[in-house]
Amino acid sequence: MTKIMDGKKVALDTEESLIDRVTFLKSQKGYVPTLATILVGDDPASATYVKMKGNACERIGMKSLKVELSSETTTDELLEQINKLNKDPQVHGILLQHPVPDQIDERRCFDAIDIKKDVDGVTCLGFGNMSMNEKAFGSCTPQGIMRLLETYEIEISGKHAVVVGRSPILGKPMAMMLLNKNATVTICHSRTEDLEQQILRADIVVGAVGIPKFIKSNWIKDNAVVIDAGYHPEKCGDIDLGPLTERVLAYTPVPGGVGPMTINTLILQTVEACENS
Ligand code: NAP
Repeated sequence: MTKIMDGKKVALDTEESLIDRVTFLKSQKGYVPTLATILVGDDPASATYVKMKGNACERIGMKSLKVELSSETTTDELLEQINKLNKDPQVHGILLQHPVPDQIDERRCFDAIDIKKDVDGVTCLGFGNMSMNEKAFGSCTPQGIMRLLETYEIEISGKHAVVVGRSPILGKPMAMMLLNKNATVTICHSRTEDLEQQILRADIVVGAVGIPKFIKSNWIKDNAVVIDAGYHPEKCGDIDLGPLTERVLAYTPVPGGVGPMTINTLILQTVEACENS
């Protein structure tokens, strides 16, 4: 029977267990797990994401510290803010909302985040550690996908996974995480030839392209596991699920699949960072 990987439910269940962990940290250890969010500029979508992250913190009793900077902020000014938060013992996780305005060197700023506070998994060092299968906070969307695969007991070892997309926050770390679990991984991107043929060979397909319904249902073989990381205003993902749902082993619905797992992973990793401290 086809499994529907219900990210909303997994996220809610996790929140319940996080409430207990946060209560314990506050009452027994005197720590209030705190996530600092940095928003640069006035992009409405970014502001909404930051607000959703703050709300998630509130729901489980964590604190969120909002840092809002003007769209004229320079790289040096942002680095100064990040360093301040790195040194603040009351801050356990730092989230720099992507994208930042063009004049800022985003990579330099991401890499300035203290590895112990890199709960969004954006630093090169964190990516390197994760890729080497060492302890690290994973980039939240792919890490959330791995948590879904684990919850729904999807077999990864020995399977052929095809990841469509190679962005630093999604496609690339996704591929490394699947490789760490012994999948045979193919990474596809905009220059891939025969994309359809590549996807047709996949036991596990991850759509992380950013184009609505780009991957067609007839490119996906029977009994595949289908992960759709995309989310578009028309409430669809990167994969045209269409008539697929009955012939695949498992799939993530859009909305309610991968989406809720991203913020959930962020707060989970912040609680872990607090516990580690
Ligand atoms: P991105 O940075 O724009 O990367 C898109 C990737 O898709 C690139 O690697 C690009 O290849 C590849 N691509 C573009 N056109 C292609 C084509 N015709 N054939 C094959 N590959 C193609 O996007 P992203 O940040 O990774 O996000 C991907 C999707 O995930 C989006 O729908 C986004 O909304 C969603 N997302 C969801 C969450 C969540 O919380 N649920 C979080 C992040 C992203 P090149 O590298 O060659 O350009």
